[in-house]
Amino acid sequence: HEPVCECNPCYGGPECSEFLSDCAADAGSGDPYFMEPFWMNMQDNAILISGWHRMGYTYGDGSYTSELLVNHIKKLHEIVGNAVTDGRYIIFGGGSTQLLNAAVYALSSGNNSLVNPAKVVATAPYYPLYRTQTELFNSRDYQFEGDTSLWKNKTSDINDTTFIEIVTSPTNPEGKLSKAVLEGNNVKTINDRAYYWPNFTPIPSPADDDLMLFTLSKFTGHAGTRFGWAIIKDKDVYEKMLTYMDLTTVGISREAQLRVLKILNVILEREDGKQIFQFGYSTMKDRWMRLKQIISKSKRFSLQKLSPHYCSFFKRVRHPSPAYAWLKCEREEDKNCYKILEGAGINGYEGSMYSADDRYVRLSLIRSQDDFDILINKLTNFVDKDY
Ligand code: PMP
Repeated sequence: HEPVCECNPCYGGPECSEFLSDCAADAGSGDPYFMEPFWMNMQDNAILISGWHRMGYTYGDGSYTSELLVNHIKKLHEIVGNAVTDGRYIIFGGGSTQLLNAAVYALSSGNNSLVNPAKVVATAPYYPLYRTQTELFNSRDYQFEGDTSLWKNKTSDINDTTFIEIVTSPTNPEGKLSKAVLEGNNVKTINDRAYYWPNFTPIPSPADDDLMLFTLSKFTGHAGTRFGWAIIKDKDVYEKMLTYMDLTTVGISREAQLRVLKILNVILEREDGKQIFQFGYSTMKDRWMRLKQIISKSKRFSLQKLSPHYCSFFKRVRHPSPAYAWLKCEREEDKNCYKILEGAGINGYEGSMYSADDRYVRLSLIRSQDDFDILINKLTNFVDKDY
């Protein structure tokens, strides 16, 4: 039996109610505990798995992908209106983390790549895994080549080599909708849509990119289930990604697929399937507004600029509700913003992790309510003291 709840590390005592005042605010990792209260309040969301359940490698049809789950995912996208799935191929992965490498592999193989490895690029500030994962595999077929700005006007390079541009929309860390920067016949894109859910962004229209990555992690909050999916237009790319999944893990754990099926069932069964997004959006919007209000009192810090936009899902103009704050230290002498915040008892992630300036720090807003409240408390004290 695992304990049901644990104290936040900043609280102690038998009821977890004593605040440990010397404890630092944890605004580092993107653990999506902001969704935990939603699932705690939801009836009938548990699964029980018998010892004899799905012991073999494959489902009845010889595949390792639940067709029922594929249909649930299609239905979900139809309700949310955030991706076109008609006539597309869908493949599952161990989070979008695994699918990212499967996609880089699929897009780089067979492009006379032994002469010229494909160049994998992204636009800073970008999610650090794009670089670290690509470098880890260190393949002959592809190499990480940094920021798109290094290649933007280099037409001869773009004509000679395959480019794989990873586009994150909305971006991590800034939460802005974005598009590919490079153009040309040899440019292929991987569109990372981890945050393209009404929780975090207005949905202007269904995304219809060649290769899109989605994940359960930030949308329902089940990062620990390790489940993501790719939506792919091209059959050849799809088959290469399938080969990758076949040769690495023989698909995704059947228990994980069953849990996702249950989670999506709970969402799809409610009247119009909107409840989870209403919760996600209002939580994130409130957090952003509280943070903005505090930072607006400070000349020392600023936040990324985000404005209200029309959302085709909510059918109205809605406020920003980003997953992260991209905080900037404005004073000339505050070159290391991370250290300034650390001194005030706030732990974020340094700007340089995102291939940006250390004047910036990423603060995670998707952690638990306790973590967020402690962050707000520490920031308020610091800003009040400073001005
Ligand atoms: N892409 C982006 C932009 C992310 O921020 C994350 C998670 N932090 C991922 C992909 C990976 O998500 P997962 O492997 O949990 O699906």
